[in-house]
Formats: sequence, structure tokens, C-alpha cells
Amino acid sequence: MRAIVEQAQAGHSLTAIARRLNDEEVLVPRDRHAPLQGRATGGIRHGHSFDRFRWTSGTLSKVLRSPSLMGHRVHRGQTVLDEDGHPVLIGEPVLSEDEFDDLQALLKARSNGTRGERRPTSALLTRLAHCAACGGRMYYRARTSYLYGDYVCAAPAKGMRCPAAAAMRSDWLEDYVLDRYRTATGTRGPVSRSELLAAEVRVTVSKGRCGGAERLAGPDTSRLTFTMGTKPLPA
Ligand SMILES: [Zn+2]
Repeated sequence: MRAIVEQAQAGHSLTAIARRLNDEEVLVPRDRHAPLQGRATGGIRHGHSFDRFRWTSGTLSKVLRSPSLMGHRVHRGQTVLDEDGHPVLIGEPVLSEDEFDDLQALLKARSNGTRGERRPTSALLTRLAHCAACGGRMYYRARTSYLYGDYVCAAPAKGMRCPAAAAMRSDWLEDYVLDRYRTATGTRGPVSRSELLAAEVRVTVSKGRCGGAERLAGPDTSRLTFTMGTKPLPA
């Protein structure tokens, strides 16, 4: 459950998480409980017989929206309350109440198809992001089943040589550029690509160290140079 929750929090789609669980042959809750209840795993669904059920985005949606993640006893999807109106606890919580609320908001935002504040706008930095080693442009490359992609040096894709082709997570690079732009201009609220182009915003990315630890919180800003117009801005 912890791994599933972490993947959802990291922005992986429910479809992608389901695929991974099926690949790893993790039992769905129903099949996991089957032996305890003296049943065989699997059963009939949509007129077909299965040895075991598969994870789907629907299964995951149910699991991730269940108050049982907070250790609550649940009946028909609702927390069971004791005489004093407190949740009946039956297990160690995977999430605190705050974490559960955050997760619900995330799932809701995604199912509504709305873009959260942190969700990257794809290709915002096309023509604005450059590779430090070759000076060429970087292009946006989507990642399957992630909300973010990467900006990568375009040289190899064009059959050209780059001595140190740079790449960086798109959400990190976009957040960095938007932050620098807003600070420099005092702008609040949404910023469009045409606005950045008009201001001659440019960000240069150098290649990360090989074998460097994967960062969790954000970009290594020592790899980045931000300029507007012709004048470089202090870091
Ligand atoms: Zn390059």
C-alpha cells in the first residue's frame, strides 16, 4: 500500500501503477483476502473466468479513496464510528488524516482533468531552453505515464554530435524558469510561453554529473544559467 500511495503522490497515473502491479504479480485486495475467507482467488467477471483478478485504474481508485488507509474500519466505503463518534481503528495507518486529504485532492484534481499549480505545461520552454555543451536547443520529450517529461539536448536526435548532451526534468526546469522570471519582473499568476519569448528569456542547462544521486526535491541549480534580454541575472 505504501508503494502504491507513493507512486500516486509522485504523479504516476493509476493506469501505470496498475500495469506495474500486474507485472509484479501483486494480488488485488480481493484475491489477497480470498484464502483467509476460505475462497479461491479469481472468479467470474463479465462472463469470463479468471484464476486471479487484475489491477485496474478502477481497483486502485477504490483502494486509494478508502479511509482504511488511515487505519479506519470501513463499511461500504465509509468509516465506521464508535459510540463517541470516533473512527474505529483496526490497523496501522498508512497515511495520516492530512496526508489522506492531500491524496484525495490530488486524485480529484486528476479525475477532473484540471491542472494543478504544480502540473507542468508541456513544452513551455521550447526555443527557450538550450544545452550548455553545444549551444543547441533542447526539446520536450514526454515520459510515458508521468505528468512530467524531460527537456533534452536536440543534437543527438538531429544526428549531430554533442560532447555533453544535457537533460532535465521538465517540471523542475519550468518551475525554475517561472520562479526566476516572476522574481525578476514582479509578475504573479500564470505566465505564457509568448510572454517568456517576448522577454527573451533563455535558460542554459549543463549535463548532470554521471552517477550523481537522483534528486528528489528539485534541480541542481548550479547546472542552470538564466538570462533575460541580453543581460545575465545574478543567481
Ligand atoms: Zn547539446
